[in-house]
Amino acid sequence: TTVNYPEEFKGFAISDPSEWSNPKLTSYVPKNFGDRDVDIEIECCGVCASELFTLKNEWSKSELACKSSSYGPKTQCVGHEIVGKVLKVGSKCTTGVKVGDRVGLGASASCCAECSRCEEDNEQYCKHQVGTYAGRYPDGYVSQGGYASHVRAHEKMVFPIPDGLESHLVAPLMCGGLTVYSPIKRSIEDTLAKGKTPHVGIIGIGGLGHMAIMIAKALGAEVTAFSRSYSKQEDATKMGAHKFIATGVEKDWSKNYFDYFDAIINCATSTVDTDVDAFLSTLKVNKKLISVGLPHVDEKLQVSPFTFLQNGVFLGASLLGSRKEAIELLQLAKDHKFAPWVETLDINEANVSQALTRLNAGDVRYRFTLVGFHEFFGT
Ligand code: NDP
Ligand code: ZN
Repeated sequence: TTVNYPEEFKGFAISDPSEWSNPKLTSYVPKNFGDRDVDIEIECCGVCASELFTLKNEWSKSELACKSSSYGPKTQCVGHEIVGKVLKVGSKCTTGVKVGDRVGLGASASCCAECSRCEEDNEQYCKHQVGTYAGRYPDGYVSQGGYASHVRAHEKMVFPIPDGLESHLVAPLMCGGLTVYSPIKRSIEDTLAKGKTPHVGIIGIGGLGHMAIMIAKALGAEVTAFSRSYSKQEDATKMGAHKFIATGVEKDWSKNYFDYFDAIINCATSTVDTDVDAFLSTLKVNKKLISVGLPHVDEKLQVSPFTFLQNGVFLGASLLGSRKEAIELLQLAKDHKFAPWVETLDINEANVSQALTRLNAGDVRYRFTLVGFHEFFGT
């Protein structure tokens, strides 16, 4: 037991999508403490484009999930690239997590921990997986995210962070980094095992895309960055991209890349500028284009079945990553000394608004991390 244990958490939240760029400081009760839950006192939190879609309610045709929650907050706090210190550990925790540990939490806060997916390092696909914010627990509580003083999550989703990595640079790895690490790793393993250098393409050089360049390179791939214009070419090269293609300018680029890619990862927030057929046509036989970018609910990926036929390729998707992969990614970042390009902002109402507004405008190189939580929340 801890003296002055917080009964309520404080966070920046909205009650209506029209307020998406102006979350206000609020207090709310956390979910009931489960015996495998962990409480984290938050130190910093990255800002992911998924948060914009949730705040603006663009992934859903119904109202904000918190509005219909049977108990718990009626407002929505977001944030799922969390780093902080463990404050409390449930009585049945088995991962070895201890009070005082520095840990990370990504976009998933809970799972059943016993189904076949959970047991086979695919807990992000568990039927009972609950998102870190706007996710609904079985009892009706709608989860609240990391632009907050504290967060409560299942221990399986709480990752130990090795010493020697800076918190504000680790935070974006928790969602964005892990989301690209998982499909890159899974799709180039075979090629690497044969001693060959896989060719990986990354579409959309934003938060996820810029981390994908560094991660693919660290895993041993030759990386091609695809961006709509040339404005990010110099940066992408510094991040480790071997080639750079401005798809909005070089309309016929795919003709020169026949039988080239072992994997292409789509990290764009919109599909309107993405010529899926062109990308599919450049894959080697039976390889995959994996889309992790999630656009507005009304946008679709357009593709002709004839494209698939020519090289027998696959169009797929990928959700987050597993605990095992998160731990691998943190070690990879440490061993290869790479880190996201981060602009920090001290957390307060004005800066939360600035981060969301600028991310929405594509005005960030390449990820915001909100910092200064202890000073602001007095934790
Ligand atoms: P950012 O806003 O940081 O980057 C998005 C990039 O998309 C831009 O930098 C841009 O790259 C590219 N883009 C392509 N078309 C457009 C367009 N019409 N308008 C704006 N940008 C465009 O976003 P994040 O990296 O934070 O997130 C990327 C996507 O991944 C989001 O949809 C997010 O919800 C999703 N996501 C999915 C997860 C999963 O598990 N599958 C987990 C986390 C996030 P360029 O300028 O180079 O063309
Ligand atoms: Zn995210």
